[in-house]
Amino acid sequence: MTIGPQPRPPKETANLVPFAHPSEEEFAGILDFYGVTWEYEPRTFPLQEKEGRLALAFTPDFYLPDLDLYIELTTLKQKLVTEKHRKVRLLQERYPEVRIKLLHRSDYLSLLAKYGFGPFSEVEVAGIHEVLISAAELERRVKELGAEISRDYRDREPLLIGVLRGAACFMSDLMRHISLPLTTDYMAISSYDGEQGGAVQITKDLVEPITGRDVIVVEDIVDTGMTLNTLLETLRSRNPASLAVCSLLDKPARRLPKVPIDYCGFVVPDEFVVGYGLDFRQKFRNLPFIATLKSDWLKVWKTEKRPE
Ligand code: 5GP
Repeated sequence: MTIGPQPRPPKETANLVPFAHPSEEEFAGILDFYGVTWEYEPRTFPLQEKEGRLALAFTPDFYLPDLDLYIELTTLKQKLVTEKHRKVRLLQERYPEVRIKLLHRSDYLSLLAKYGFGPFSEVEVAGIHEVLISAAELERRVKELGAEISRDYRDREPLLIGVLRGAACFMSDLMRHISLPLTTDYMAISSYDGEQGGAVQITKDLVEPITGRDVIVVEDIVDTGMTLNTLLETLRSRNPASLAVCSLLDKPARRLPKVPIDYCGFVVPDEFVVGYGLDFRQKFRNLPFIATLKSDWLKVWKTEKRPE
């Protein structure tokens, strides 16, 4: 048993510390990401003595020196949570100067989900298998793409065309990372299987003409490439000054026509993904990360018509 502060672990070493529980490691990962300095179980507080011997002690999970705050995660069984509440109460009675916060399971899960870490319970995000790209990774990459576009289009005023509905999140984040004057417009596309032989149709056209403009098509994902191919043909016929493609995701495994992707966020494997604008039957668009679906949900996707 250790009493008193331990040497602080070097920063960003969440994967080197022997955590007692995976949720602690995930929490340390979030703290690292936000540059919050932490110490893992640095101090044990004696709480009760019996006949001169230590009878009860408490070692909070984390200490955040910059906030002078101890954090105890309560992500385990209810019985343990009750015991933790009791220990925190005893600690506060005995050490009133010590600041400690119990992080409850629901707060903890929504914090994890917000920043793209698992796990998820059935109730939290039913149908989600695992996070493929976290919110933090998305944010970083979208920022990089914005910077790249800002460099490449210096002294020009690009027109961003967002493809509804999947590109909604990407488009609104991307445009805020482009440090140039720009304009935006939106198109909606749908593909019909069966009777119309997989034809791609424009269901909502642009409001403004694009002749002579530097157009950047902003897509959610390029899969077979059929949608993008048709879209580019249509746009080319309207004589823009230039035409480029920025797609958040590239799924090259099922590509049919060769389509140019000038700016690509991430290459993804041949799996059905949802989140950050992408849907499964109109659901999951509001997840702040990209995730794969559970296999029983996937079966439905593979046997029925693909969502738009
Ligand atoms: P493509 O014509 O390239 O095969 O398909 C492009 C469209 O199919 C995308 O804009 C998207 O709406 C849909 N799509 C393709 N793969 C996925 C996927 O993994 N997840 C979701 N949600 N939509 C997809």
